[in-house]
Amino acid sequence: MATLTPQVPISLENEKNPWLAAAARFDEAAMRLKLDDGMCKVLRTPNKELTVNIPVQLDDGRIEVFTGYRVQHSLARGPAKGGIRFAPDVTLDEVRALASWMTWKCAVVNIPFGGGKGGVICDPNLLSDIELEKITRRYTAEIIDFIGPERDVPAPDVNTNEKMMAWVMDTYSMHMRHTVTAVVTGKPMALGGSRGRPEATGRGCMMVTQRALQVLGIAPEAARVVIQGFGNVGGMAARLMAAAGFKIVAIVEYDGAVYNPHGLDILALQKHRKETGSITGFSGGEDMDKAEGMFLPCDVLIPAATENVITSQNADRVRCKILCEGANGPTTPLADLVLAEKNVFVIPDILANAGGVTVSYFEWVQDRQGYFWNEKLVNGRLQEIMDESFDAVVEYARAHKVNNRIAAYMLALDRVANAIRLRGIYA
Ligand code: GLU
Repeated sequence: MATLTPQVPISLENEKNPWLAAAARFDEAAMRLKLDDGMCKVLRTPNKELTVNIPVQLDDGRIEVFTGYRVQHSLARGPAKGGIRFAPDVTLDEVRALASWMTWKCAVVNIPFGGGKGGVICDPNLLSDIELEKITRRYTAEIIDFIGPERDVPAPDVNTNEKMMAWVMDTYSMHMRHTVTAVVTGKPMALGGSRGRPEATGRGCMMVTQRALQVLGIAPEAARVVIQGFGNVGGMAARLMAAAGFKIVAIVEYDGAVYNPHGLDILALQKHRKETGSITGFSGGEDMDKAEGMFLPCDVLIPAATENVITSQNADRVRCKILCEGANGPTTPLADLVLAEKNVFVIPDILANAGGVTVSYFEWVQDRQGYFWNEKLVNGRLQEIMDESFDAVVEYARAHKVNNRIAAYMLALDRVANAIRLRGIYA
């Protein structure tokens, strides 16, 4: 495991360690900002890390113990904010990286949160609904002193959804002896969820892509889009972008890929997947090798699944003009160098997928006010924030002669460092 002193050069062996990847970008941005050593130490190190071991009685009567984490990277700008993921390969290093990305993401879009992330090592595909409910509730109970509307506000992430967020809210509320909706976001509408939250990450991806197309002078109707991942982020981005006139020429999933040069009918593809369990065999397109889908020539590539899909091993094969990172950490630092040489316009994850946490912020505000907004208001405010943040990053990159990713990090680090300076170091 990597240590918390991350000045380890990125090599072919360690390029997929997300904590080192986050640290490499951090170090470059910090160096360019000329942050002093003390500030670097504070910003680089997660504020709190909690490991919990959760005993759960499975449906067959056996007792299993699952390990979970919650990391609060920074609380300087407000309560920690960030999702909880359930996956068999979750590691503490991954959760640390994801928590730090949340700090920078919230700072890039300038919402008053720090960054946090949670994860439970389990395979949701092998667990029943009842078992998932038990894991979610016991995990919540174990981290209960860590979270709260003013402390740390979880949300959905990979393999977690609004039903689970309702269990988090209910468990927390039972312990507090009153209903506390603002402890978690991404909840169902009936329990204090926000209009527009399920679509928000995909919608944010579309908004920044539209902005990037303007910069490059490409008309949206002429833009061919390839999306990797067809879940909450990729599926929603595909649906909204197809409705806005983009040509979604390929969808790449873990079990296959489907291609249509004239544009896929996304609603029909979603229906097909619901009926058959897979995107393959769809009559409105051709099946193709899933390993090849990401390398089709296109205007926009949206990796919208997990980390490390674009690495030093395949970056030279990417043939897009714009890379819009719907997932967290899809590109390794070594791949960044290759993409820069190829002149790809990268919309970095901490900007591209920030639509989700932005509407989570709206949800938290609405819960605290007890007054709910209509969808037009939610989407309009999201548009304002995404447009402003995109313009700020691109302008920063131009002014400081750095790429978009480093510009986004520099902007974020500067904001968080400023908050720390103003607060001072409490002793
Ligand atoms: N899991 C999402 C992310 O990585 C959303 C986090 C949130 O809404 O707090 O940005």
